[in-house]
Parts: sequence; structure tokens; C-alpha cells
Amino acid sequence: MTTVTEAPYRGRFAPSPTGPLHFGSLVSALASWLDARAHRGAWLVRVEDIDGPRTVPGAAEDILDTLARFGMVADEPPVWQSRRMPLYQHAFERLQATGLVYPCGCTRKEIADSLVRAHARHTTLAYPGTCRNGLNGKPARAWRLRVPDGDAAIVTFDDGWQGRQTQNLATEVGDFVLRRADDQWAYQLAVVVDDADQRITHIVRGADLLDSTARQIYLQQCLGVPTPSYLHVPVVTNADGEKLSKQTGALPLSATDPLVALTDAALHLGLKLTQAAKSLDSFYAEAIAAWSERVKR
Ligand code: GLU
Repeated sequence: MTTVTEAPYRGRFAPSPTGPLHFGSLVSALASWLDARAHRGAWLVRVEDIDGPRTVPGAAEDILDTLARFGMVADEPPVWQSRRMPLYQHAFERLQATGLVYPCGCTRKEIADSLVRAHARHTTLAYPGTCRNGLNGKPARAWRLRVPDGDAAIVTFDDGWQGRQTQNLATEVGDFVLRRADDQWAYQLAVVVDDADQRITHIVRGADLLDSTARQIYLQQCLGVPTPSYLHVPVVTNADGEKLSKQTGALPLSATDPLVALTDAALHLGLKLTQAAKSLDSFYAEAIAAWSERVKR
């Protein structure tokens, strides 16, 4: 696997503007910021606004304003995925040229039904490859990337927080979607294209994305681009153990005192802060040192 950890450090925070910044996303932003600063690297922000139906107008600006109020300003102008469609198209065509991309005519219901049948037989819950060898007269809906069979489907990586991770793409995921039935580029494709284009060397984000990482590494290999180093921090959950999100009642941080919220986020990350910070500068100085101590890489 090609790695890019020898290249100058470039990290990023990549929020989806589905609502204002909340405590869960603050934790991811803070972790990526601290890691970049601890490495004396660059920290970028990418607005992941290609999921049309989920994007809320004004949310991206609101997130950027809140980050700035919290003292986190990107070292380069933020990048907006919605302005980069030709890049995704180009990558898709390069993947098509490898012969690994095929149209899929399965509806959500057909896939759900086959997964229920597979579950009943105690076999795996991956997309079963129904359209691998043709659409059988069904209209094309989405486009999928074929994953390898056998041992070649096993992807292993060392996560900076979670340790060694292994996923079998064939049995745990199956051929996955690059272009969705609603004509939108899939997150997996866009994120890999952008991380490569922005020469990102270190990805620090929430552990809810741990499960996507093997797909992203496989896509990097198919596209011949380097694999960054990964670190997934624990997600914030509510009292019911659900990931904190707008849907699960996370409150926006717009009215919160930055030092209080940042200190809580640092504690969530297990950082040992010895004194109550009186300014953003003193908070960050201590938090960067505590992060380096906590993560040691
Ligand atoms: N946009 C994704 C999210 O907000 C994060 C993508 C990433 O960090 O790779 O969940």
C-alpha cells in the first residue's frame, strides 16, 4: 500500500451541512484540528454538500462561522463538494475503464428482501452481486464497483486510535454504490477523490466512519492514489446510546460558550487538562500537548 505519511501533513474536517455544528461534530473537528496542530501541519475544511436531499441551506455558513468563533480557521479556503462535480465524473470514468463498474437495477426493497433471506440462512449481509452479470431486463438505477473475491477482498489498516482493523469487502460489504439511483455521487467516491486531490495525509474523524474506511482504501487502490493514515475518535452518544446527530436531539452550539464546549469535547477525547482555560489560546496550547500525549504517533 502506498502511504503518504512522509509528505507534509495535511489534515481536514469534512462536515456535511445537514444542520448546525453540534457537540458530536465539534469533537471530530477538534480532534482533526489538534492532530494537525500537533504535527505543525495544515488543517483544511471541506463542505460535503453533494447529498442534495440532506443539505440544509445556510448550514455550511453556520458551521464555518461556529468553527471560527471556536478558534478553528482553515489554513486554505474551504472546498465545496458541490463545485467539484467534474472531478467525480472523471474518477468514475477512470474506474469504468478498469471494467470494475457495472449498472445495478435492484430496488432498495429487492436488496432488503435478499438480505432478509440471507440473514435467515445465516449468511452474510453484503450486497449479493445480483446485477454483476447483467440487468436481466431491469432498468439501470445505480452504478456499483465490483469488489474482489477471496483473500483479495480483505483490507487491513492500522487505525491511530482503534488499532488494527480488518474488513472483508466481499462478505461484509459487497459491490458498493458509486453513483446512486437518484443520480448523486456516493459519499465513498467523492471523499476518496477529494482526499487525493487535496493531498490529505492524515484523516481524523468519528468512529461512525470506521466501517467505510476499507471501501475507501480499496477505491484508492483502484484509482492508483495514496492511502492516508487514519484515526477514528469515539463518537458521542446520547443517553440511549445513539450517535449524537440532529435527529437524535443534538443541540446546536451557536449559543454556547466556546471554552465550555471545547473543554467538554477535549474531556470526551480523554485529554488530561490540568487547568480551566481562560482563553482559546491557552485552551489550545494545553489541548495540543495533551493530544500528543494521548495519541503518540
Ligand atoms: N461528511 C462526513 C460526515 O459529516 C464526514 C466525511 C469524512 O470525514 O470522511 O459524516
